[in-house]
Amino acid sequence: MDRRDFLKTAGVGIVAAGAAAPTAALAKGKTYNWRMTTTWPPKSPVLMDACELFVKKVETMSGGRLKVQLFAGGELIPPLQTFEAVQQGTIQMGSSASYYWAGKVPEAQFFSTVPFGFNFQQMVAWLYHGGGLELWHEIYAPHGLIAFPMFNTGVQMGGWFRKEIKSLADLKGLKMRIPGLGGKILAKAGVNVTLLPAAEIYQALERGVIDATEWIGPFHDNIMGFYQAAKYYYYPGWHEPGTMGELIINKAAWDSLTPDLQEIIKCACAEITLWGLTAFESRNGAALQELIQKHGVKLRKFPKDVLDQLRKFSKEVYEEEAAKNPKFKKVYESFLAFQKKITPWAAISEKAFYDEMMG
Ligand code: CA
Repeated sequence: MDRRDFLKTAGVGIVAAGAAAPTAALAKGKTYNWRMTTTWPPKSPVLMDACELFVKKVETMSGGRLKVQLFAGGELIPPLQTFEAVQQGTIQMGSSASYYWAGKVPEAQFFSTVPFGFNFQQMVAWLYHGGGLELWHEIYAPHGLIAFPMFNTGVQMGGWFRKEIKSLADLKGLKMRIPGLGGKILAKAGVNVTLLPAAEIYQALERGVIDATEWIGPFHDNIMGFYQAAKYYYYPGWHEPGTMGELIINKAAWDSLTPDLQEIIKCACAEITLWGLTAFESRNGAALQELIQKHGVKLRKFPKDVLDQLRKFSKEVYEEEAAKNPKFKKVYESFLAFQKKITPWAAISEKAFYDEMMG
């Protein structure tokens, strides 16, 4: 097929598909009134802003046919019960991250972030062009759920520590708040891992219930005030190189939507992903300077041998989980194959560029 034929054929396909959906949807003329919960604290900057923006966009794009009442974490249900609430359908949607469900669906963690895994652009490449999204839907289907990528933090920070980490031995016995696979990896280094919702972290750190925590990055961590309770701020965020948020939806509720409303949700999710990523990226640099200069935070890089050891532990964790869970194995293999395929390109594109840009 030459290029003109392809364009002609593709164009016809788009017109045909575009004509059918809105007609069927408008014919139904139904208004949906949904509820949405989140794992984020009330008024949480960027995170709750993103949810509010999402709800407004969906209502505007749907001409008012899909109205969503938004609740922050804890307003209707505890933040970490989002999965169950949406599963039961008492609430139709939730904004969260799939690694919060590691205890119930360990294989879902790949759709949020993988330690030493994908950055943002690699993650979206896997999800949209490497079979990742289809796998995500396959994994959530038996739970009566469907999800779409919504929000991304970019590369996170390694976390806040009350004391310096000079060697692997310094990690042993530490109590740290860290979700997902990162927590399993640190457990191998002797860390006592805990998962607390956002609203409870500061107090736990301040009271010494935990010795360390990770959260997101300079902008949001500054607002959370962690510098008042721990002075050492570590990088890089080896455990969260480009964390993807999720919009988790009750599958029966999703199926009840007309095709145009489904497309509206997918488009709004994609736009919020871009909005969230850039909201953090545009603020993190200045916030880091404020933390160091105004709040006396001591910025530290994890020692190379600590990172090397954690990378080694990460492979052990993935292999162990894969050996006991066929679904984990299936998603891990897809992740690994895609990583193998894209890494040589990353080495001569992003990595080479960054090395040279920094001089
Ligand atoms: Ca984090």
